[in-house]
Amino acid sequence: MVIKEALLEAEKILKVAGIEDAHFEVKCLIKDVFKKDPLSDEDFLEAEKLFALAHRRALGYPLQYLIGEWDFYDITLYIGEGVLIPRSDTETLVDKALEILEKKENPYVLDLCSGSGAIPLVLSRKKEGKYFAVEKEDSAYGYLNKNNERYGNPIKLYKADALDKSFISSLERFDIITANPPYLTKEDMDSLQKEVEYEPSTALYGGEDGLFFYKKISSLYFSKLKPNGALVFEIGYSQGEKVSKILKEAGYRDISVSKDLNNLDRVVIGYKR
Ligand code: GLN
Repeated sequence: MVIKEALLEAEKILKVAGIEDAHFEVKCLIKDVFKKDPLSDEDFLEAEKLFALAHRRALGYPLQYLIGEWDFYDITLYIGEGVLIPRSDTETLVDKALEILEKKENPYVLDLCSGSGAIPLVLSRKKEGKYFAVEKEDSAYGYLNKNNERYGNPIKLYKADALDKSFISSLERFDIITANPPYLTKEDMDSLQKEVEYEPSTALYGGEDGLFFYKKISSLYFSKLKPNGALVFEIGYSQGEKVSKILKEAGYRDISVSKDLNNLDRVVIGYKR
């Protein structure tokens, strides 16, 4: 089989499975898995491997996990099963956090439920400061550690449960606390897109109403903010009002909701005044 036919065949496997951008995805697999683009006819032995990947992808297995890396903002993160795939929605949180950080001198920054480390890694490369990240799950922590190494270990990592009171009391105080916590509701979890089903539920499920982590984090970490410190949350698009209310009740002031590039509510910020 000449390689051109193999590529078309792989594309067909994806198209039949309903994957819209089959051409793009096959190109990604070739570039990032085989590290050769284009493949030539001498590479025809790779065709079997390409078909195996295409069949896996056709079952809904995320492209990002097949490749093992994904871009976020202006960096590339190692990812795989057991860690949430960084999403472009979260770039809104990074931009908002940067606006706040720009006004601070040598800020202390804490990221909770850090996963791959997408948020603090980008921030640490844009603004000098002291960075800390917390992740509880073994596999996610493995990726966090690898990604931190990839960018020269700018972050002090804690493998801990962010809601553990004795862990929290061991922390210092911060200028900014960021978090993209699990926020999907029970109902969301029952109707996940095929791809998302392969991602860890520990990174997705935020309790029956999706608000469990917002309630816990906003009350447990209030005392861990310096005066004028900010808590910056990513939220689900329908949670703006509810999370604002949670922050207000926990004592935060100057609460704001910001939209992502799709014009959906995506970030809530509250200050300790
Ligand atoms: N944004 C993710 C999704 O819609 C959810 C991530 C999260 O719960 N923090 O699948």
